[in-house]
Amino acid sequence: MPGFDIALTVVGSINADITAVTDRLPAPGETVGGGRLLRSPGGKGANQAAAAARLGARTRMIGAVGTDPTGREMTEALRQAGVDVDQVAEVDAETGTALITVDARGENTIAVCEGANAQVSIADHEFPATETVLTQLEIPLATVTALAAAVRGFFVVNAAPARRLPAEVVDRADLIIVNESEFAALPQLREARSVAVTYGAQGAALYERGKQIAVAPAQTVTPVSTVGAGDAFCAALTIGLRAGLSAETALRAANAVGAAAVTDPSARPAFRAFAHFLPDAD
Ligand code: ADP
Repeated sequence: MPGFDIALTVVGSINADITAVTDRLPAPGETVGGGRLLRSPGGKGANQAAAAARLGARTRMIGAVGTDPTGREMTEALRQAGVDVDQVAEVDAETGTALITVDARGENTIAVCEGANAQVSIADHEFPATETVLTQLEIPLATVTALAAAVRGFFVVNAAPARRLPAEVVDRADLIIVNESEFAALPQLREARSVAVTYGAQGAALYERGKQIAVAPAQTVTPVSTVGAGDAFCAALTIGLRAGLSAETALRAANAVGAAAVTDPSARPAFRAFAHFLPDAD
């Protein structure tokens, strides 16, 4: 059993991931044959919610899918991961879809068709002070901005994919999580209150107002697919910090979950990787 009780709401995207696993990524205009096809639930929001539920947080998802069978499939996958899906709306659009290519080294390209995710809204939702909220940028920026004003508890923004954030979102966020290239693309984050940056196989670091306050190396693993590693990391870091871990231990725990995700093509981190760091795990 996890040694914490955390209520987490994820406001974000829900996609169907359609993945071709090929020897190498096609160049523009090129066709690469011999692909192996994988269909799996995805979307940064849904991935983070599923990871959080598996890591032991009481997790609800606010998002939207289409009325198509894929939408029901994606909602059902979230439910099976242990996520409360009562606030996943069915809207008149196609369910969000990501077309992914992964090569033999685990590198990927991703094209996203946002579909129903463009209609994610927080109208009629409440965000009590006891609840942690985690969001990303695969939903309308207006929704993220409204969320920044509505959230009363701990508010975490994974600024991915990189988009310039309204100042009120940066100011309200208790924690912003980005990967190295998003951090480089968003200079406004250099002075933000608290920013965690992931460096892939190099691990991660936490900055407060641009000053590094904690750093943790990645675990050494052989990556199978890096899709979803950042999402698993976001869920784990958020929960680790809310569970009272020190910044450094929370980063190490999140790296362990990220490493578990890169060795699993379905991006489903093992709770074991995380539980090891919790106070009552030894
Ligand atoms: P994103 O997937 O968002 O681009 P990163 O590639 O930085 O983010 O990965 C997020 C986290 O996942 C890293 O901080 C690390 O903990 C873990 N991770 C990613 N790639 C590897 C790797 N090759 N080996 C070990 N851990 C990894």
